[in-house]
Amino acid sequence: MLLSKNDSPPFKLYNETCDTPVLLVCDHAGNEIPENLKSLGLSREVLETHIAIDLGCRDLAIALSDLMKSTLILASYSRLTIDLNRSPYDETLITPISDGIKIPGNQDLSTIDQESRLEEIFNPYHAAIDGEIKRLQDRRSRVGVISMHSFTPSMSGRSRPWEIGILWAKDERISRPLINSFRSEIDLCVGDNEPYDARENYGYTVESHGEKAEVPSVLIEVRQDQIDSDLGVKKWADKIFQHLNPILLDLALSVD
Ligand SMILES: [Zn+2]
Repeated sequence: MLLSKNDSPPFKLYNETCDTPVLLVCDHAGNEIPENLKSLGLSREVLETHIAIDLGCRDLAIALSDLMKSTLILASYSRLTIDLNRSPYDETLITPISDGIKIPGNQDLSTIDQESRLEEIFNPYHAAIDGEIKRLQDRRSRVGVISMHSFTPSMSGRSRPWEIGILWAKDERISRPLINSFRSEIDLCVGDNEPYDARENYGYTVESHGEKAEVPSVLIEVRQDQIDSDLGVKKWADKIFQHLNPILLDLALSVD
């Protein structure tokens, strides 16, 4: 067993009784490390940086969940323990290095060590997403999934101008009108498949629970310096809700 009685469950449900037919998910909401893994050999300072957690994203997702009256699934453990937005076969699932920083607790893992992280953290998290989609589908004919992330303002020496990025691969039902709506704000720099291009590599969560299941879906990334204060979180939750809600209404994905 990896998780002990002092450890958190792998995910928490927030607003769990809501039946708005859109599920919010936050793969990188947490930075906990199971006690047995001894902080992966990292300092507390490193575990407070963007390599361990999507800074600001938990608070943003919670604020958006309250506005949308949508159930939200929040991951507890750091992406450095196991990245919930990677395929189980991806070589960065349990990454040995991140943004140039070696992760001591992820070097030369045995198959048993890898499988315990999959079985006790990754699989229950993704089963919870399936379970919540099914619960909502039992109430509504159509259900959507929105994956919330945040990104660091500068990566590999390159600064990123976009305040918000909308990521999509094949399904443009939410992404295209959402990009157009955000771009009506002329002072906003809106990323269309930036800072990552989902057509090249979507990550696991939206691809598996959204695109492959033909569930309307999108991934929203907000730059971390925009949501590093209570005021910033509130501003961006309000802004995302204001642009997103009419689109969800059009798609019959809102209760209002
Ligand atoms: Zn993320």
